[in-house]
Amino acid sequence: MIIGHQKVLDYLQKSVAKDRVSHGYLFWGPEKIGKKKVAIDFAKTLQCQKSPHQSPEGEQVPYGAGKHGTGQAKNFCGVCKNCQDIEKGIHPDLILVQAQSPSREIEISQVRDLRKALSLSSYSGNYKIAIIDEAHNLNREAANALLKTLEEPRGKAVLILISAFPNSLPKTINSRLQQIKFSLVPTEIMKNYLKNADLDEKKQEEILKISQGRPGVLRDILDDLKKKDIYKSFIKSLLGLKNFDLNQRFDYVGKIAKNRKESIKFLQGLSIFFRDLFLIKLGVNDFVLNSFLEKELALAAEHYSKSQLQEIFKLLRRLNEMLSRSNVNPRLCLEVLMLEI
Ligand SMILES: [Zn+2]
Repeated sequence: MIIGHQKVLDYLQKSVAKDRVSHGYLFWGPEKIGKKKVAIDFAKTLQCQKSPHQSPEGEQVPYGAGKHGTGQAKNFCGVCKNCQDIEKGIHPDLILVQAQSPSREIEISQVRDLRKALSLSSYSGNYKIAIIDEAHNLNREAANALLKTLEEPRGKAVLILISAFPNSLPKTINSRLQQIKFSLVPTEIMKNYLKNADLDEKKQEEILKISQGRPGVLRDILDDLKKKDIYKSFIKSLLGLKNFDLNQRFDYVGKIAKNRKESIKFLQGLSIFFRDLFLIKLGVNDFVLNSFLEKELALAAEHYSKSQLQEIFKLLRRLNEMLSRSNVNPRLCLEVLMLEI
């Protein structure tokens, strides 16, 4: 079930109906917004064994309207073998490529394997589809090899690159891809989806505030409502940070830094925290996300000037990008941060 992105879905569906599917797409836009989900559903649309219904006028009618008041309908059946195998991630004509640990880069060997897989004929006699997730992680050799694939498109092959940092991709690659932009999902659509979640209105509002138009965040919260309580205690621990001496601060981040993903999450949490402090400084408290802690946040805001907060934002953004895209030691990153905040 996709939340939002109706225009993108319509566009892709039309390209299938008119037999104008591109060889290469770039799905770009903020993280946690549903780009990969749309790519997977697009793969189902391309592979579904049951053709869409025909209306009396001969037009194609999609399968079932959306259940959650989002007004969406699917363009695949969801029950045939192709649809199910794609959902399970085991369809032989769908190749998923993503960065491998420990390098966190997409390596040339992966692109070579991909080229080989695309050169074989399709099992289903239909499209071969490759999804390259977080494509900004392609290293230079891998990007060059991928460029060759894009320069010599073969038959029914579709490459879908996904990225929240499209400018980090080589221009030569970008220019060969059809750009599909994903935007934050309007609150109204997120709200409609949440209506089915059996939560009181206040809770729904809080979740909407935290997810900020990102269905992936909303899903995460619904999957584990406890996260919100954890988040509260996280903010409370941040509020205490100011009273820690340097040793205590290093101890605090030392535990988080053992896990790179946790470190990135920590930085994202900090970004929201400092955003709140900045908004309080500006006197626009209505936009504060963690308004349930407004008093404590107001006290914390007194420790920083606006320009200090701006510098912290810059640092957080830089560290976040470094941690996401390079081998830099998380502990080092977080310790640098502890010296600055
Ligand atoms: Zn199907």
